[in-house]
Amino acid sequence: MAAAYDLAVIGAGPAGAAAAATAARAGLAVALVDRARFPRDKLCGGGVTGRARRALAAVFGPLPAALFLDCARVRLVAGDRLLGEVADAPPLSLTMRRDFDAALRAAALAAGADDLAGRRPAALDPASGRIAFEDGGSLAAALVIGADGANSFVARSLWGRAFDPARIGFALEVEAPRPGPAEDDAVEVDLAAAAWGYGWAFPKPRSMTLGVGGLHPANPDLRGRLAAYLARHGATGAGRVRGAFVPAGAVRRVPGRGRVLVAGDAAGLVDPVTGEGIAWAVISGAAAGRAVAAALADGRPERALPAYGRALAPVRAELFRANLLRRLVYPGPLRGRFASLLARQPRLQRRYLALLAGEIDYADIRAASLLRIALRLVAGRG
Ligand SMILES: Cc1cc2nc3c(=O)[nH]c(=O)nc-3n(C[C@H](O)[C@H](O)[C@H](O)COP(=O)(O)OP(=O)(O)OC[C@H]3O[C@@H](n4cnc5c(N)ncnc54)[C@H](O)[C@@H]3O)c2cc1C
Repeated sequence: MAAAYDLAVIGAGPAGAAAAATAARAGLAVALVDRARFPRDKLCGGGVTGRARRALAAVFGPLPAALFLDCARVRLVAGDRLLGEVADAPPLSLTMRRDFDAALRAAALAAGADDLAGRRPAALDPASGRIAFEDGGSLAAALVIGADGANSFVARSLWGRAFDPARIGFALEVEAPRPGPAEDDAVEVDLAAAAWGYGWAFPKPRSMTLGVGGLHPANPDLRGRLAAYLARHGATGAGRVRGAFVPAGAVRRVPGRGRVLVAGDAAGLVDPVTGEGIAWAVISGAAAGRAVAAALADGRPERALPAYGRALAPVRAELFRANLLRRLVYPGPLRGRFASLLARQPRLQRRYLALLAGEIDYADIRAASLLRIALRLVAGRG
């Protein structure tokens, strides 16, 4: 007999943990499945924005302060050129995903979800919600949430493949030793380090995360770009280079099929300008958990997906705006002009940093301001 659940959540990263915690707290019998055993690593800059902190607090309550290093000093560069350094920017919290994800998953289990870590699904039947595992076991669930990341098994089961690699981002990262606790406590963003993307140096309590990432097809030599970025930081050969797809700019119009919902990276919820995905993972995971709980309370599981789709509409709208802005600031010569504009306009710099730190939304940028920037960039007056 297969174990029976109200909800199976596949993937116990931020999206899955948020979904499982929300649904378990609503009284559902939840299985939280992950192929990995925790703690496990996850390739990520670990930049947790104000938006993410608010979403995390709403779902998980207070998290241990030791998970985060708060950083308000931000340096904007374009290669060797310093565009600006701000000592009191809206703070970004930096975390190590190994510890952060383990804490979120533990909170979901404490809320009542069953721990199915180290179990890799082999087959999912979207019509019945039945999941067969590679170890021979199986479970049945009234509804399923796929929160299993950029290469989602659930998305592949529904649509044949998770994403079109020609349309999404790719990033390379190295975890390098920190030169010294006080030596570089700034978050650095390098607008010239990758095409349709950027480079980042994020301080962590015991290390420095250095990475470059951008639209996959626009960066055929991303390894070369990373090598140049590491050299600029005196970090050549500093750590193992690892890479991963970032499903930015590929928001799914319908976030699931039938009794299966997808959340977080599996739903393409990554900001194509900033690369932020943690906040959207938590927000979408919690929304999926709520939609499932409400649909099952009404005895109408088929209502979960449409309700979830409606709840995600503001997120999709925000990421749509990000996609438009990306076309303004990232292509060819506009990019250099945008960098120059940032260097010359401290006010614009602050708005950009507020956007990066998740203190303002794209919806908060006035159309008139955008138009003014667009006209300057197009006219070559960066
Ligand atoms: C290099 C890089 C840097 C980034 N930097 C940032 C940043 O600084 N800030 C930010 O906000 N975002 C960043 N992102 C994006 C962020 O990492 C993701 O958006 C976020 O992790 C999405 O959360 P998730 O829960 O949807 O998926 P994930 O965090 O990927 O979790 C998915 C879970 O599913 C499990 N899983 C995968 N496949 C299966 C399977 N077949 N069966 C069972 N379980 C499975 C995995 O083990 C994992 O635990 C970065 C991404 C990359 C690649």
